[in-house]
Amino acid sequence: MSGLKSWREIPIGGYILEGRTAREYKTGDWRVFKPVVDKEKCIGCLICWIYCPEPAIFRVEPKVEVDYEYCKGCGICAEECPVKAIRMVEE
Ligand code: SF4
Ligand code: SF4
Repeated sequence: MSGLKSWREIPIGGYILEGRTAREYKTGDWRVFKPVVDKEKCIGCLICWIYCPEPAIFRVEPKVEVDYEYCKGCGICAEECPVKAIRMVEE
């Protein structure tokens, strides 16, 4: 045995009483760097949308845009974009 507690033994730290509450918590002010999409390079593949951990990338046909109210600036989208159409810019 590792000596670690099982999930049943860990104290409850919070409750999520209803679904779809993530939109109430705007996480954009966590950001130090912001992703900027180069619309000329973007091929509309939506890889960034798949990888983004927030509801921060949305489709504006045929490309994408970033919702800066929710983007935390993690940079995953820039890392995963296959054509390097996203660069992280200091705020
Ligand atoms: S920087 Fe992170 S949170 Fe912001 S759009 Fe990219 S993947 Fe989403
Ligand atoms: S991953 Fe890159 S090319 Fe694909 S939609 Fe996002 S910005 Fe555009």
